[in-house]
Amino acid sequence: MRLQDYDLERPYQATVKSSTRITPEECDEVRELVLEVDHPDFHFEAGQSVGVLVPGRHALGHEVHFRLYSIANEPTPMPSGNPIITLCVKRVDYIDDYSGERYKGIASHYLCDRRAGDRITITGPYGLPFEVPDDREANLLMIGLGTGIAPFRAFVKHIYRNLGGWEGKVRLFYGAKTGLEMVYMNDERDDFANYYDRETFRAFKALSPRPHWDEPAALDRALTEHRREVWEMVSSPETWVYVAGLQSIREMLDKAFVQMAGSAEQWQRRKAELVAGGRWTELIY
Ligand SMILES: Cc1cc2nc3c(=O)[nH]c(=O)nc-3n(C[C@H](O)[C@H](O)[C@H](O)COP(=O)(O)OP(=O)(O)OC[C@H]3O[C@@H](n4cnc5c(N)ncnc54)[C@H](O)[C@@H]3O)c2cc1C
Repeated sequence: MRLQDYDLERPYQATVKSSTRITPEECDEVRELVLEVDHPDFHFEAGQSVGVLVPGRHALGHEVHFRLYSIANEPTPMPSGNPIITLCVKRVDYIDDYSGERYKGIASHYLCDRRAGDRITITGPYGLPFEVPDDREANLLMIGLGTGIAPFRAFVKHIYRNLGGWEGKVRLFYGAKTGLEMVYMNDERDDFANYYDRETFRAFKALSPRPHWDEPAALDRALTEHRREVWEMVSSPETWVYVAGLQSIREMLDKAFVQMAGSAEQWQRRKAELVAGGRWTELIY
């Protein structure tokens, strides 16, 4: 779906409760924003996204700049009745290929510059939430890159905390440029540590082999290192696969899965079966 096709008719006001930098100073900035939506009727599920409307007028002439962000928490009822949502936002800059000039990403800078008490306008929620299979013995394979960890943070909490546990295998593969940029899973803050003692949960990290050269995280390598289990899961009719993050994740996954499947055709066939069965969900941006 293209950004211009999203319905912006029903905007909601939200108040920033807190904004915390969750990566160290020497890394790219990623912030966690906790927002209270001023409307009790705003309902969402783990894995959905919200739109953020940045008022203009902007450099490219548009009045309102609209971007999507994944909700990183699971729905939790608040005493006020107002929903709380957590966003995990990376401050992005772009270098213009032509002029070589650096431009600030409008929405990401806007969000990263907000502080407690500021009010923002959101829309949504949008997107197919990550569907939790009815069968608790189903296997869940989650693969995330960069801020693509946000919906999995909500998802894993939801299955272990709200649903009380999971009997099938839950595997999370997560890639970032450096260990410190692994938001929610670095030395300072590991939200997934709460689940490491669960028998069914395992998480695997993939870092860039040469972060200073801006090489991407070796997610493909991490998957192929665990190829036996990963391929067994992907081949099983009892497995659901969830993928989230930047576009580049597609290429990495294709590389790893083509190797595991033995050929591009075999992988495309298997992936098509998973997609057709509603067992492959992507949140790619
Ligand atoms: C479903 C979904 C979920 C997402 N979840 C998250 C999330 O959880 N966390 C997260 O951090 N991101 C997430 N994103 C990405 C997010 O929506 C934005 O795309 C990202 O933050 C960049 O937006 P921006 O407004 O800061 O950049 P923009 O201002 O939109 O800039 C982006 C593009 O515009 C060009 N550009 C920018 N400024 C100029 C200029 N002045 N002149 C010429 N060209 C320019 C750049 O080349 C670049 O290609 C998600 C996206 C989707 C689709």
